[in-house]
Amino acid sequence: MRIIHWFRRDLRLTDNPALEWACTHADALCLVYIHAPEDEAPWSAGAASNWWLNQSLAALSKQLQAQGQQLIIRRGRSLEQLRTLTQEFKADAVCWNRLYEPATLARDQAIKQALREQDLTVRSHNAALLLEPWQVETGGGTPYRVFTPFWKSAQQQLPPAQAVAPAPQDWPAAEPLHSEQIASLNLLPAHPWTDKLARHWAPGEETALDQLDDFAESIADYAQARDIPGRDGTSRLSAHLHFGEIGPRQIRAALSASAPQDADKYMAELGWREFAHHLLYHFPKTPHSAFNPRFAQFPWRDADSAQDDLRLWQRGETGIELVDAGMRELWATGWMHNRVRMIVGSLLTKNLGIHWLAGANWFWDTLVDADLANNTLGWQWVAGCGADASPYFRIFNPDTQAQRFDPDRRYRDRWLNSPQPEPMVDLKLSRAQALERYKKVRNASA
Ligand code: FAD
Repeated sequence: MRIIHWFRRDLRLTDNPALEWACTHADALCLVYIHAPEDEAPWSAGAASNWWLNQSLAALSKQLQAQGQQLIIRRGRSLEQLRTLTQEFKADAVCWNRLYEPATLARDQAIKQALREQDLTVRSHNAALLLEPWQVETGGGTPYRVFTPFWKSAQQQLPPAQAVAPAPQDWPAAEPLHSEQIASLNLLPAHPWTDKLARHWAPGEETALDQLDDFAESIADYAQARDIPGRDGTSRLSAHLHFGEIGPRQIRAALSASAPQDADKYMAELGWREFAHHLLYHFPKTPHSAFNPRFAQFPWRDADSAQDDLRLWQRGETGIELVDAGMRELWATGWMHNRVRMIVGSLLTKNLGIHWLAGANWFWDTLVDADLANNTLGWQWVAGCGADASPYFRIFNPDTQAQRFDPDRRYRDRWLNSPQPEPMVDLKLSRAQALERYKKVRNASA
């Protein structure tokens, strides 16, 4: 059989079920990545993600070359490109690993149908999640809306952790085909902002696996260290996971040798990732509208009047130390510690009354790990309008949070190097105003 493996966000060779299927069944194999940002609109990748993708494709291409294979790069709408390629390569089959965003799901369904109408075999696999979003459901057959019962039920369905499939050993013969250069995809912006990301990150499967090895050694510390932004207490695997340079099954297998009390907390964070994908799949409108319908009427500030305040927040010039430290960490590295993400989000949506989508959009452009499922869940949680969200009336006080989670100032001192401006809001007064706004939706009928 002549098989095309379509790489998307599964940029790895190990534990890659579609690739494994292709290598086992192909007499001739074509490996393609299609750059099609329009297919993902309105959530086409932002600047930091594009920087990552540029490096990750280069890493994958190098890995494949070492196996005598070629990564074919094409650009344009995916269906058109696949149609052309199936003819050029005289393919019998196309396979890929599934994605779960509303736009990519609809696209993939249409592609599957179109290719099958051309009499091609089409197969899709799961590389990204421990369980498919539709596999976990309540006793009543509905999707879960609360994390704890979701994760309990998911864990009962998980097969025993086991060693994952290694990279293919026997590659079918490669047949050279025309490929664009990665550089011609123009993933790197004219703006030099992304240059500094290289100081902090090395995209690609090999680094992801090394990172996992290092992290697995310090897993016993995770439950305590994960909440302290001044420490390197988390795995920093989020962008690698987003691009599929590593999968959750591999992480689970690597941690299965650790004591359960050490690994459980980390697995629960991967559980949040599964939950985020479950919600996005079942509630596809949530990237742009509140999960909790009461918030349809919420009096967010209008975008024009909020513009200047939004800019201060984006630049880390709010005068509130922990918030500014977080926003500067994001600008400098393309990543921000989870606790600080919650705190900057709370200030924006509650104290400043700015719509959570303004924050979600900024993160979308600047985070190397920007992920539609996780970002939507995170912002709706922070804003209090999501599934299983932090209640709206729980408003983080960034100063108290700083005393509790950054008592030695390590984090703030690392990111704040200039004299701080005066705080742009009075935390107490703006909190009271936020609670007044909330009263307007609290009693609204859902
Ligand atoms: P670790 O603590 O090592 O966690 C391991 C993995 O579990 C992460 O890599 C991630 O894949 C997953 N995970 C951890 N926490 C969460 C969570 N709360 N929700 C879903 N998955 C989680 N994460 C993203 O990957 N992309 C985003 O765009 C994103 N946006 C966020 C926005 C807001 C407002 C908030 C509050 C959180 C957001 N998160 C997002 C979740 C979380 O902050 C990051 O996953 C985490 O900080 C990544 O660092 P790490 O890999 O070191 O995490």
